[in-house]
Amino acid sequence: MGCEGRIQKALSGFYYVNTGAEVLTCRARGKFRKEGVSPLVGDRVEVRELGSGEGVVEAILPRKNAFARPAVANIDQLVVIASGAIPKTDPFLIDRVASIAALKGCDVVVLLNKCDLDSADELYEIYNAAGFPTLRVSAETGEGIEKLKPLIAGKLSAFTGNSGVGKSSILNALDPEFNIQVGDVSQALGRGRHTTRHVELFHLNCGADVVDSPGFSSFETDELNLELKHRLPETFVEFRPYLDQCRFVGCSHTKENGCAVLEAVREGKIQKSRHASYVRLYEELKPLQDWQ
Ligand code: GDP
Ligand code: ZN
Repeated sequence: MGCEGRIQKALSGFYYVNTGAEVLTCRARGKFRKEGVSPLVGDRVEVRELGSGEGVVEAILPRKNAFARPAVANIDQLVVIASGAIPKTDPFLIDRVASIAALKGCDVVVLLNKCDLDSADELYEIYNAAGFPTLRVSAETGEGIEKLKPLIAGKLSAFTGNSGVGKSSILNALDPEFNIQVGDVSQALGRGRHTTRHVELFHLNCGADVVDSPGFSSFETDELNLELKHRLPETFVEFRPYLDQCRFVGCSHTKENGCAVLEAVREGKIQKSRHASYVRLYEELKPLQDWQ
């Protein structure tokens, strides 16, 4: 008998496929290896049931997107967690993730955690003005957590953020059943403990699915960075109208006289900080070779 489901966990060659009714323990059909594709957590798949809760993954349905690190597919949204203090998040880290999200067709939500300690006004101003849904929350007091729920319900989100910003704490605040150990060990150092886990999807009681993944930099692979290099300007979504207006062929939008993007920065239509990140990413990605 055949059915459809979503892979919620991959471990030691087994795929755990949630069909809505049950979770089947599956092997993948041999042809995937021959074709050089392997099923990913998040994949919608066709399964042939073998009975006793076992099955075989027969086909992978078309993907919305796929990430190499963490190995996961069909991410709807990246929830970027930042904080105004302990640690203070560098906006560049947020902008890098937001660009990768745009590249992969994911929505972005910016969460400013620890608002009980610091209202993160600077970051709020930047991301609100740039057009991202931006929320102040506190995993500690619960402030803003109810407002976050409708933004993530019915979607598959990856929570990402620099270590210590409170990813685990927010997931726990969203759903107390979701019992991730919060790293208070290195609290004195102002940063959280880093724990590595296999990739797994979790269903929260507000109707959200989440994949918890380690820090910002872990999204990056040479392939992803190369893709980013070629499409960088359009991944800064609020630059798009000005990219159309910029008449210079091959304009890098970093320093050219008369560039429409730079003009928009001067007029305050594009946040200075966002453009500064664009320039920094542009310089960082420039040396990447296409043949890599
Ligand atoms: P992660 O590394 O991003 O998963 O961060 P954790 O969830 O482990 O949190 C790191 C530290 O920040 C822990 O000591 C938490 O108790 C603390 N923390 C997390 N959220 C908040 C918050 O909203 N307010 C305050 N004051 N501390 C928080
Ligand atoms: Zn330009």
